[in-house]
Amino acid sequence: MMFHKWLYSLSIIFITTSASNFSAAGSAVVNKASTNSGDVVSGLKNAYGDIEILNGGPQQGSMILARLKGEGEVFYKQKKLPLTKEGLFVFGVGRDAPSSIELIVKKSNKSNVVPIKVKSREWKIERIDGLPPSKVTPKSKDVLARISREAKLVKSARTLESDSTFFTMAFIMPAEGRISGVYGSQRVLNGQPKRPHYGLDVANKTGTPVIAPANGTVSLTHPDMYYSGGTLVIDHGFGISSTYIHLNSISVKQGQKVLQGDLIGTIGSSGRATGPHLDWRLNWFQTRLDPQLLIGGAN
Ligand SMILES: [Zn+2]
Repeated sequence: MMFHKWLYSLSIIFITTSASNFSAAGSAVVNKASTNSGDVVSGLKNAYGDIEILNGGPQQGSMILARLKGEGEVFYKQKKLPLTKEGLFVFGVGRDAPSSIELIVKKSNKSNVVPIKVKSREWKIERIDGLPPSKVTPKSKDVLARISREAKLVKSARTLESDSTFFTMAFIMPAEGRISGVYGSQRVLNGQPKRPHYGLDVANKTGTPVIAPANGTVSLTHPDMYYSGGTLVIDHGFGISSTYIHLNSISVKQGQKVLQGDLIGTIGSSGRATGPHLDWRLNWFQTRLDPQLLIGGAN
């Protein structure tokens, strides 16, 4: 089906979501370090006792790259975070994260709570009309079963916790084009409020190259999922994965190692898409993060 032929209207207005209600407390204390450079070496460093955050002030949707000084263990939400031999660790906070989160640092039987401020953000509302009704509210049993099967495949790729440390690299944009959609937007499809949009949309012609933004291992490829069409997931280690959807073609195989800049596929409009674009996503396990923050492009 040629969904890119469908005319659609996209109207964007700024709103204050419930999550932004935290901002009264949150933004007042956020310092100038809140602009992420994505560059581990030159990125502004924020110190929190034994913890040093290496990629700028955390905000809703941030992948947080940090270092533990000296020996010890770090926990976030009861999960022990793996450390590289340099003491680096990574985790992420979602779109609706509260204005303060806590890490627990354990050193020789002493346990310390390290509170970390998370800057609240404003989200857009995106209205998209003229989508085929079957792609907005699927009703058929077969389609619903297919959607759930495909969701499980993606979920399991994002459950992987490999010991790769490629998440420490400075990421680059995976495709050239116009930014046509951003992380966190509240979507209203054919007048129906839907889940927020969690990707960064890059619109360009069908066939435009998509490259790996960082080194990794391909953990899932699928030629045509119901919503996401041609779908590809790359594992960057420690639960960080990136996902590429609506692809026209995929040029790598599951299990294949890719280097930053390698061709992984091409832009398309497969699945539920209103036109050819790459939808690029970033995850810490099942927590959806904003890929634009990695390349210093958001806010
Ligand atoms: Zn998208």
